[in-house]
Amino acid sequence: MEIDSLRKLFVEELKDLHSAERQIIQALPRMAKKASNTQLRSAFELHLEETRGQLERLDQIFEKLGKKGLGKKCKGMEGLLEEAKEMMAEDMDPEVMDAALISAAQRVEHYEIAGYGTVRAYAQLLGDKDAARLLQQTLDEEGATDKKLTQLAETTINVEAAVGA
Ligand code: FE
Ligand code: FE
Repeated sequence: MEIDSLRKLFVEELKDLHSAERQIIQALPRMAKKASNTQLRSAFELHLEETRGQLERLDQIFEKLGKKGLGKKCKGMEGLLEEAKEMMAEDMDPEVMDAALISAAQRVEHYEIAGYGTVRAYAQLLGDKDAARLLQQTLDEEGATDKKLTQLAETTINVEAAVGA
């Protein structure tokens, strides 16, 4: 398909995010299971629920556009999650593994923040207020998750991982 308008690029990028969210829904339960710190595990579990809601928001946007969210694979997210998987297979102390899980999760959040910031801006420019509002909600959740992970890392998890230096 020729992408000859910002509207078409908008749809392509939404499909990419749809794929990214579907991949994250597959990966987060494994990351939660791998976490030893209970706060970190709950953060992953909560974000899994939020992510399901984010996928629903994308479905709402697609429905209004009269398009389907399927048909694209987000290779960026596939790569990030592949790295996370390799890292989870390493032999690590539990405290160090928790620090590594945060490192992987924040890469995912930052990638999403970049993607959602872009499509939110497109939605505003295209005058799609409903889409802009839904995308902003997701953007806020991704941002809050990122901040929560930073706080967990800085106050507890990295500190505990540093004990064995
Ligand atoms: Fe998400
Ligand atoms: Fe996220």
